[in-house]
Amino acid sequence: MILSIESSCDDSSIALTRLEDCQLVFHKKISQELDHAKYGGVVPELAARLHAEALPKILEETTPYLQEVKAVAVTTEPGLSVTLVEGLVMAKALCIALDVPLLPINHLHGHIYSLFLEQPAVFPLGVLLVSGGHTQLLHVKAHGNITCLATTMDDSFGESFDKVSKMLGLGYPGGPVVEKMAKQGDAKRFNFTVPLLRTPKLAFSYSGLKNQVRLAIEELGEKRDEQDTCDVCASFQATATAHLLNKLERAFKAHPFECFAVVGGASANLYLRTHLEKLVEKYRMPPLMVAPLVYCSDNAAMIGRCGVEAYKRGEFVGLDDVRVNPKVAF
Ligand code: ATP
Ligand code: FE
Repeated sequence: MILSIESSCDDSSIALTRLEDCQLVFHKKISQELDHAKYGGVVPELAARLHAEALPKILEETTPYLQEVKAVAVTTEPGLSVTLVEGLVMAKALCIALDVPLLPINHLHGHIYSLFLEQPAVFPLGVLLVSGGHTQLLHVKAHGNITCLATTMDDSFGESFDKVSKMLGLGYPGGPVVEKMAKQGDAKRFNFTVPLLRTPKLAFSYSGLKNQVRLAIEELGEKRDEQDTCDVCASFQATATAHLLNKLERAFKAHPFECFAVVGGASANLYLRTHLEKLVEKYRMPPLMVAPLVYCSDNAAMIGRCGVEAYKRGEFVGLDDVRVNPKVAF
């Protein structure tokens, strides 16, 4: 088995994945969302301290399986340095105690492998990665062979939901609550402009849309009621999604993919999923690939699934040669 550890942001998670058939034998995650909610976002030092408490608690539950562990896979990039270190320190200690090798895993590769937790891996694949820190269109040709075709010039898709939520006083994280409010709202009420609509450039941008939303909220002022808030959420969500769809449509025309998928925490958004499904159908691709909803946000199961491939390729590193890397580009 592969024992995997994820601590790149505010989720402490450990999984055990069988090498022969990639079956998930154990998976547990302790989310710190509520601890950070009162600060309106993730506080790195608090996150690191909470990982130091949570990871050993989860690890205890894996005791019956530890003798079967053949390697430890751990997220080493990208993420918050102070929280990545918590996972890496535990991984190194386990490697010494169990006398097994270490597999450093890229968190974004992990998100891609969330697709293959309950379905077989297929390549090549076009992937839209929409998470808290990234908005990228990727061409995944094989394991580790990834080209980035478009990225964001400023904020990410998920981050823009968090910022809109904060402006509306709806709390952190913003994605789920903004999506919920949007269901009761009128998406046509506010006429937000779709970012980069006329430029052929394959890139994403969310800071301009965020400012449009801020101005609309300021204009509503103190008389803003629940329906106004729902309408802001619906109009924002529709425009943020229209931006993704517009750029994807340009990409599909230039570069038809054999298969297309969406991954990352924000891929849990059902409005986005529904619209991507329709777009993929329009371009005659096989049905949109998605990860099970529970594995869209950060988790060690996806790190373990990615770890199985890294193990097969022998991508081990010496314990003295491994570092965390907060920023990494494809
Ligand atoms: P990265 O993976 O880029 O390092 P991260 O790990 O912090 O960033 P994830 O955990 O993958 O990000 O995703 C969290 C993000 O997903 C948050 O910004 C959150 O608001 C967003 N999100 C979660 N659910 C939804 C939803 N239903 N709609 C829109 N956004 C959502
Ligand atoms: Fe993530």
